[in-house]
Amino acid sequence: MKTKKIKNFKMNNDVYKLRRQVIDLIYEAKRGGVNLPRIEVRIGEQSSIKHRNVLGCAKMNGNQMWITKDAIDLGVDALRNVVFHEIAHAVFNVQHDESCPLMQSALTTILNREDCLKHLLKYNRPKKVDRFDLIDHLERRQLLESQF
Ligand SMILES: [Zn+2]
Repeated sequence: MKTKKIKNFKMNNDVYKLRRQVIDLIYEAKRGGVNLPRIEVRIGEQSSIKHRNVLGCAKMNGNQMWITKDAIDLGVDALRNVVFHEIAHAVFNVQHDESCPLMQSALTTILNREDCLKHLLKYNRPKKVDRFDLIDHLERRQLLESQF
């Protein structure tokens, strides 16, 4: 899994430890009641000077995220803001919203643990909906085919 603005680090013990901090925050969201599927996480660094301010990226609705070492080095509260922001993109397909302190396009306000969860929970919805849609679609296609 690859993205333009962040170059993945090769996995080794140090990178596992960095990724562990991100995964722990994903579990924190889960324990807080956010419906989460398995999320793939990569740790890396900005791919060029042009992207030096990038802290994280996500594949919209694709359950994949990339977090930079810079974001991890900002400390747990800032990192939680970055991770929860990317969860909203990656899992709930949420776009940027400058009126939401979590979904602002730039990290300006660092929310505390409680507020960060509260804002992520605004976007929470069961992920099952997509799977039902897929089944529904397949069934309709099957019905259509059996008509011929
Ligand atoms: Zn974003």
